[in-house]
Amino acid sequence: MEPHHPAGPARMNINYDSAGELKALLEEKGLGMRKKYGQNFLINPGIRKALLDALDAGEGDGVWEIGPGLGAMTAGLLERGARVTAFEIDPGFIRLLKEIFPDEKRLVLVEGDVLKTWKSRPASPLLVGNLPYNIGAALLAGFMENGMVFRRMVVTVQKETARRMAAFPGDADYSSFSVVCRSRYKVAPLMTIKGASFYPSPRVDSQGVRLELRDEISGTYPDCFYPLVRHLFSVRRKTIKNGLQNFLFSRIIKGDSGGSAASAREILKRLDIRENERAENLDIPVFVRISGEIDGLRDQRKSGRGRSPGER
Ligand code: SAM
Repeated sequence: MEPHHPAGPARMNINYDSAGELKALLEEKGLGMRKKYGQNFLINPGIRKALLDALDAGEGDGVWEIGPGLGAMTAGLLERGARVTAFEIDPGFIRLLKEIFPDEKRLVLVEGDVLKTWKSRPASPLLVGNLPYNIGAALLAGFMENGMVFRRMVVTVQKETARRMAAFPGDADYSSFSVVCRSRYKVAPLMTIKGASFYPSPRVDSQGVRLELRDEISGTYPDCFYPLVRHLFSVRRKTIKNGLQNFLFSRIIKGDSGGSAASAREILKRLDIRENERAENLDIPVFVRISGEIDGLRDQRKSGRGRSPGER
């Protein structure tokens, strides 16, 4: 049993553990399920509790919830005393959530696509969500690239996405998304969640993941850190020298292939990085150093203080 929060107003009693009852409720309200929104309800109470325990939201803590659906996790958060801002795209679910949690002052519902709506809301320290599979990675990357940080996030994603989030250099799943997630957070994979824990059951397994803000990170990354990482992994078969050269050519030393090549070489030499190294073997501090050099080069060119090293 999850603890009952005595201060909460009465809410509609829903059995979130029963696929049959959720289906009947949707039918009664004339609502359908939309595949394109990745609507799978988490009907396993043990997993819901474990995810909420991992989030560890207490009395008065602000939590962003992504995709509340019919409110299974929302109810648990409110019972623990949290203040919830819930982002939901389905207008039918929003209507129903208002019926399920009437007069709930600790719940703010934000209707619309969270990829567009989140920027207009005041930040909260915690985030939870059984993320719709088609927007999960874009949403998390968008938070990080826009400097939106949470103290802790607990999300459910497809297993394959979870593997990418937690991967290190040299791992088969290491990607720009691994760098993006680990640039701000310690990524801890939690339980595997079988399809049968959801209604309707997806074909692939999911995984809970906890992201804990890394306290050693202070300040911001160089401006071109995230664009550079995305670029270098998009051409991961190329050597770092060629990838860097292309990046400089398209963004910094536009249209000058000789200058871009020479600058790429010089940056790698200065940082003592082999020209034939590949992005998939490099870790965050190396990308930071390269992007710092590129920011410096850009500033130098803007201020007219000479040309790039390679152009001299
Ligand atoms: N939290 C509920 C649960 O655990 O049972 C539902 C999770 S379901 C996997 C994903 C939810 O995200 C659905 O309610 C869906 O309508 C919502 N959703 C999908 N795309 C969205 C978007 N772009 N913005 C906001 N909500 C979205």
